[in-house]
Amino acid sequence: MTLPETLQPLHGLFMISAFILGTALGSFCNVCACRWPAGESVVAPRSRCPKCLNSIAWYDNIPLISWLVLGAKCRHCKTPISAQYPLVEGLTGLLFLAVYWRFGLVIATPVYMLFCAALVIVTAQDLADWTIPNEITFPGIPLGIALALVGMAWGAGSGLRVTDVFDAIAGAALGGGILFALDRVTVFVLKKPGMGFGDVKLLAMIGAFLGWQGTLGTLVIASMVGSIVGIALILYFRYLGVPEATDAPTDNPEQTEDAENQQDAPPSDEEITLEGHYLPFGPYLALGAIIYLFIGPEIIESYFSIIDMPSEHIILVE
Ligand SMILES: [Zn+2]
Repeated sequence: MTLPETLQPLHGLFMISAFILGTALGSFCNVCACRWPAGESVVAPRSRCPKCLNSIAWYDNIPLISWLVLGAKCRHCKTPISAQYPLVEGLTGLLFLAVYWRFGLVIATPVYMLFCAALVIVTAQDLADWTIPNEITFPGIPLGIALALVGMAWGAGSGLRVTDVFDAIAGAALGGGILFALDRVTVFVLKKPGMGFGDVKLLAMIGAFLGWQGTLGTLVIASMVGSIVGIALILYFRYLGVPEATDAPTDNPEQTEDAENQQDAPPSDEEITLEGHYLPFGPYLALGAIIYLFIGPEIIESYFSIIDMPSEHIILVE
């Protein structure tokens, strides 16, 4: 990214501000991921210790710092505080910093900061509760399409990945369509539990923000990372001598279906925990979307240069 010359001296300040803003929003991401599954408001009441119910004072609620100062324990009852809180705060801070560093001072920067924060909430909630919040995906789909209209009006100067509303609509339809079809095939043809509509809505939202190429890119990255992690977990538990389920796929790491095949029913609770059969797919989609957001066009370009095809013949997102 390039910063206007007059603003160059403020570059460091902007970076620090982006990080601090990210940690503050990360703190809110934690609240959303913890309260939405229980159907609670994210505005009221104030944060309390779940054990002693004491309200958490503002000075005990400073992102990252309070957790360290308190030694990861409640000030009053010394109940341990999960490392999820500082992890989510730190991750969101780093993502905000990375978005500013990548995109600079353009309209796309606050947009993609919020997009990343939304994906952090999705990841945290899917890992903890195995659900993907409709609070994110329902407004996210029309919002992504509306932003493409902004990109269309503003042009390339907006920094937005999608500057064509039809690209956003195609991305949403493609993302939702692929996973919906996959879910129906799994349920009706293979007679197995499907992947769930949370993932369908999530990839539709990602498609609305990243366009049809971003949808495919996200799906490919998510499937590859998901397969690698799945295989690593299987090997890890085999090494530990834990008995594993019979039909865990260990071949063909590049197939999307692997994530679904790993959901073969019905594993015991132990297998669910140890084998990762029900490992949620949402975090992989979120990771895929974030990787594509930052370096997607570069990945596509280098892919076509590797297979020796002039990239000017490929329609690339800006
Ligand atoms: Zn307490």
